[in-house]
Amino acid sequence: MQKTLLAASAAVLVMVVGSAFAQQRDFTNVQIKTTDLGHRTYMLEGEGGNMTVAVGDDGIILVDSEFAPLHDKIKAAIAAISKQPIRYVVNTHFHGDHTGGDAGFAKDGAIVVANVNVKKRLADGSVNGLTGAKTAPVSGQALPSKTYGSQTTLRVKGRLAKLGHPNNAHTDGDTYVYFADANVIATGDTVTLGRYPNIDFANGGNIKGMIAATDLYLKLSNANTKIVPGHGKLASRADLVAYRAILVTARDRMAKLVKAGRTEQEVIAAKPFADLDTKVGANDQQSTNFIRVVYHSLKG
Ligand SMILES: [Zn+2]
Repeated sequence: MQKTLLAASAAVLVMVVGSAFAQQRDFTNVQIKTTDLGHRTYMLEGEGGNMTVAVGDDGIILVDSEFAPLHDKIKAAIAAISKQPIRYVVNTHFHGDHTGGDAGFAKDGAIVVANVNVKKRLADGSVNGLTGAKTAPVSGQALPSKTYGSQTTLRVKGRLAKLGHPNNAHTDGDTYVYFADANVIATGDTVTLGRYPNIDFANGGNIKGMIAATDLYLKLSNANTKIVPGHGKLASRADLVAYRAILVTARDRMAKLVKAGRTEQEVIAAKPFADLDTKVGANDQQSTNFIRVVYHSLKG
């Protein structure tokens, strides 16, 4: 009996320490930067994934919610744009720097929308394939209340958002959001600028899907399209073309190494992306991470 009690309190201690650690991150100095993309559409940057705001006549659609402690700041930044209520929050994928604010906005009355696999990953908990770090399951209002499979639409009065699910790209639950009226695409982490993309291979991500998703955005876009990437500055179609070239080069080089039977360690030692590192400004650790995620994508 006492032993069980001891084990139980040890478990509680681990949980408390775990959540204290998660809350250690200091957001006090984070400011939310708003960029007007035209046609009542905005890009918001704080800490974590970029956000997109589309304002209608009776409500707002918000794409991604960053971290829970930033909820009030994000809310204030949106209120400075429009007094309409936030009707929908779309999650581009399950990672905490894009979904952490969900529960707060759900409490405020928003419907949180995501691909069905986002709900599953959040409810089951997940493990980071690169670091082995575990993310605990969440429940209740921290879970999306509305899920979809391959595509869906959301409407507020005067605005339409088209949501699509690229298969197995950054994760297995990615969503891009296309606001055709504003010529804006929010890509989540299927596109990141100024650094290598992460590919969450342990949770269904794959470089082949990243390339396919980029092809999809190229098809949707023209020279005036504004692309809100998961991380990094606002992108153009030309940026997407350059981004795709890096992905394709990485895939092709890695495919040869995998075909030749190289191990993960051998591939890392070979530094197959040295010239790309210079292009994206990646340090050794970032380069190694990208080698590993591309290797695991193709090794299967
Ligand atoms: Zn992510």
